[in-house]
Amino acid sequence: MSPCPPMTPDKLPQYPRQKFKSNDLSIELYCRGTREYAKLSYPVKYGLFSRLQTPEVEFEFNLNHEITHGRSRRDTWLHPSEWLKRTMGNDWIYYSSGGYAGVFEAIGEYYLPNLSYPTNSLLGGKPFAEPEVDRICSEWPDILERLPHGLPGMPGWAREWMAAIKKVTPEALEAKADSLFRIPGARVSVLPPDARHSDYDVIPLTIADGCLYKCRFCRIKNKKSFSPRTPQDILDQIRDLRNLYSRDILNFNSLFLGEHDALSAPADLILFAAQKAYKEFDFKNAYMSRPRLYMFGSVDGLLNASPDLFEKLNGLPFETCINLGFESADQKTLDRLGKPILVRQVKEAFHRARDINRKYPDLEITGNFVTDPGLPQSHTRAMLDLVRESLPRTTPKGSIYLSPLKFGSPSREMLYDFYRIKAASRLPMFLYIIQRL
Ligand code: SF4
Repeated sequence: MSPCPPMTPDKLPQYPRQKFKSNDLSIELYCRGTREYAKLSYPVKYGLFSRLQTPEVEFEFNLNHEITHGRSRRDTWLHPSEWLKRTMGNDWIYYSSGGYAGVFEAIGEYYLPNLSYPTNSLLGGKPFAEPEVDRICSEWPDILERLPHGLPGMPGWAREWMAAIKKVTPEALEAKADSLFRIPGARVSVLPPDARHSDYDVIPLTIADGCLYKCRFCRIKNKKSFSPRTPQDILDQIRDLRNLYSRDILNFNSLFLGEHDALSAPADLILFAAQKAYKEFDFKNAYMSRPRLYMFGSVDGLLNASPDLFEKLNGLPFETCINLGFESADQKTLDRLGKPILVRQVKEAFHRARDINRKYPDLEITGNFVTDPGLPQSHTRAMLDLVRESLPRTTPKGSIYLSPLKFGSPSREMLYDFYRIKAASRLPMFLYIIQRL
């Protein structure tokens, strides 16, 4: 891993660190969190943010004065190193720690994101049913409102900042999320599993609507036929997104090219979108280092792409992850899923992905397979043939994600099954928790 480049010298002076502390209130403006997303077994703060602490709560705010993280400091909070995060799509996510055995082995992260909407996670409890978690999610504006506007000895900058964070109401955050969905044309209903490397902090840019297959089993597809956007449409989105993220764009360095099969868009359009976004979002000077580019791809998208595209993607100033939906290497299962592709294509795409992963250091193609106890046994056998028997040795690149078909059904049995398959796999293997933006 290369060392972090020098900190954004032209922008950081705009955000001088300030601190105010009284008996019942502390404010830290522009804390410098870590500059790289890290996988650590203790909570890590990243980005440039401000923190407010009272005996009751700890809240964090981004550069637009919007609340981003929160936790209670009461004894009734589940665990002192667990926290809530509010996404740009205005969802609260509860990050839980070691309470669930094997989190890192299962998802490749030390903290488990518990989502407040139905998803396919096999792990986790029900943190949103906890009164204290619910209180922070629903009462944070009242908690802020109850704080005094000023205290004796409070400097002007602290009073101004307090006034600014109180102005960002839940309604304003909802409206902002609506704009985030409107600009690319729809809400991002699913992010690639690889986006975990950026804690799902990605800017969504749609370069092609819909997908090729409209598989019967899929719960996140839309009705749109696959259709690439025009370069002008992409430029318009970039302009609007830059305005929407506003000052906090400094905290972003990762891009998601939507929707469900950006890889099937024309190569020129993919490269155009990535390059323009990098420049216009000023990722070069982002607070966070190691810019990343994420997209979904399909089996046909990969097989039809010219080798030139991968050469050029590898040359971009991003680390790029393309997540392919294989779903199964067993024809019976593909047919049952209503996925209109052949095993021969799945195998060809799998091996092509492997060649690309070997050749390009800054490009990784990952793949998804579905998992469900109701699928034929031949599904698991065929998958193991690929991820074990077809590979001469273990390799650290080209992760495979197993995606449970059922939503809202955490299952210990399926988890054991997953660990068994993972142990046999010669590729890194994780569970896919479907997360939206
Ligand atoms: S699995 Fe992928 S290709 Fe199939 S319908 Fe869903 S989004 Fe489309």
